[in-house]
Amino acid sequence: MKVLIVGAGIGGLTAALALQERGCDVQVLEQAAELREVGAGLQLSPNGLRPLYGLGLGGSLRACASEPAGKNIRLWSTGQTWKLFDLGATSVEQYGYPYFTMHRAKLHQVLADALRARKRDALTLAAKCVSYAQTDDGVALKLADGREFHADLLIGADGVHSRIREQTFGTDQPKFSGCLAWRGVISMDSLPQHLRSTVGTNWVGPGAHVIHYPLSGGTLMNFVGIVERDDWQIESWTQKGTHQECHADFAGWHDDVHELIRNIEVPYKWALMARDPMPQWSSRRVTLLGDACHPTLPFLAQGAVMAIEDGYILARCLEKYASDPALALEKYQEARIERTTSIVLRSSENRRRFHNSALASAAGAAAYVDREWTEAKVRERYDWLFRYNVDEVPI
Ligand SMILES: Cc1cc2nc3c(=O)[nH]c(=O)nc-3n(C[C@H](O)[C@H](O)[C@H](O)COP(=O)(O)OP(=O)(O)OC[C@H]3O[C@@H](n4cnc5c(N)ncnc54)[C@H](O)[C@@H]3O)c2cc1C
Repeated sequence: MKVLIVGAGIGGLTAALALQERGCDVQVLEQAAELREVGAGLQLSPNGLRPLYGLGLGGSLRACASEPAGKNIRLWSTGQTWKLFDLGATSVEQYGYPYFTMHRAKLHQVLADALRARKRDALTLAAKCVSYAQTDDGVALKLADGREFHADLLIGADGVHSRIREQTFGTDQPKFSGCLAWRGVISMDSLPQHLRSTVGTNWVGPGAHVIHYPLSGGTLMNFVGIVERDDWQIESWTQKGTHQECHADFAGWHDDVHELIRNIEVPYKWALMARDPMPQWSSRRVTLLGDACHPTLPFLAQGAVMAIEDGYILARCLEKYASDPALALEKYQEARIERTTSIVLRSSENRRRFHNSALASAAGAAAYVDREWTEAKVRERYDWLFRYNVDEVPI
């Protein structure tokens, strides 16, 4: 089966590898002239690492990832710390796979190298897709420069502004979430000793939260600061802001947060847009994956992980229903839609939890944290995410 994938992001590359592994002939078309990922970090929970290990990438990922020992919660005002959960060996014991944090560019490189090692010309760069036509027998894809590609199937892995989604299901209706995300990378050497932690930290406060965790074997620290603000609505990975503006968004927060902000190399800002979950994302020989079909707010850190799960399960469906590609795409959507919809909805819920007004005073915060982050509640919120087994999901 010949498959065209639009978009060489984390989702598109994982799908390409999984499909190639199961005997499909894959071509990935990427609009960028050069393969690049933004300089920011990513958390990869065990449910996302299971498929990547299954594709034989465990060793390469471990070589460039960090493995946090656990996660803590800290209070915006006093810096008081509570344990959220253990990771490290506990993750492997409980879920079968580790929990990594890593630089997006490194993950991207591992995926692209593995794909090229399996099929040297599997990736075509400077290939911006503009439209497609499908018949009962196949799909023809058109690029902006007039070139055409033909295949049995087309997968839109072209991200949140997906052209394939737009042509198939119409223009989407993003709603501004009222939140802005600050992102940046910090050299670990520039931080005081007490902040060079191997534990992921989640600062919570009224109207904002901050997450930081180690990257690249602990030489870097990733910073994400999300704040409720309604004067910035540009959804882009590459918009730069200033340190001054970022400090102002966290005025009154603990000195440690400002120390982190001071040391961010380049602070980027991204307006968080919300989209309702789609009821359908496959149409005969065309389907979508990753942010193209279930973009999510980042409050559960599962966007890229969902894209990875999608690619792997899509490949299982295409192998099982190889004689009927349209049925394979229906089965893929059926296997994935309930989970991805839940993740999108529960991510939005987490915003209320992280930004709760009860966190304003230290006394109110202590009672709130004791109530909201009991071991039982944390398990209920994360176990179903981390235990998901892409090899056993019925298809
Ligand atoms: C602040 C923040 C923090 C996050 N943290 C996490 C986290 O810790 N863990 C996690 O799992 N997720 C996280 N996410 C979400 C994650 O980044 C995304 O869900 C993930 O990148 C989606 O991958 P994708 O492959 O679907 O799309 P993308 O990564 O957007 O890739 C799409 C690709 O398609 C290409 N493309 C687009 N249009 C065309 C076209 N017409 N023709 C050809 N190519 C095209 C693009 O150039 C791009 O390369 C976070 C998101 C944000 C905003």
